[in-house]
Amino acid sequence: MTETTYGTGVVVAWMAAVAAAVEREAGRLTDLDAAIGDADHGANLRRGFAAVAGTLAKEPPATPGAVLVTAGRELISTVGGASGPLYGTLLRRAGKALGDAGEVTRDDLADALAAGVAAVGQLGGAVPGDKTMLDALTPAVAALRESFAAARAAAEEGAVATVPLRARKGRASYLGERSVGHQDPGATSSALLFAALAEVTDG
Ligand SMILES: [Mg+2]
Repeated sequence: MTETTYGTGVVVAWMAAVAAAVEREAGRLTDLDAAIGDADHGANLRRGFAAVAGTLAKEPPATPGAVLVTAGRELISTVGGASGPLYGTLLRRAGKALGDAGEVTRDDLADALAAGVAAVGQLGGAVPGDKTMLDALTPAVAALRESFAAARAAAEEGAVATVPLRARKGRASYLGERSVGHQDPGATSSALLFAALAEVTDG
């Protein structure tokens, strides 16, 4: 049995699908961030992923890994606040882990994204349960071992499960108990990332 592999084009399409999703959901991300943060999450990610999509269209990288490294670098250089460095680190680290392979399997992507998620945890000092993007990313990467659709569902469930949590990291943690009852914006945008991946790989 031959395992399905994914090439550079799929990863470029993934980033374009994230840009489209962020564009579509920017208002919702900003509303969520207005409730427990500083109301810039939608605008920040919209600007960042628009820059990613623009750069990838102009100078398409040669490998899946290079696509993610380029995307991560672009996010770090165009997005202020915490989300640029965090998403940038996720994608850049994942891209480095893919190395220079021309085609990658779902398991390769799961390994690479697991390395990216570990780097995000290190950078932000957060763990699952802190009401951050890790609450969507961590279960999504685990479920990616099973399928793209499972990863998408796990990310969405993880994002929704942040509602009753009290924030222990990031700006929302300043609110203490008042952060309870709101869905975390970073976990919500992380779910968009995995929804886009399922979209371009047909689940
Ligand atoms: Mg913010």
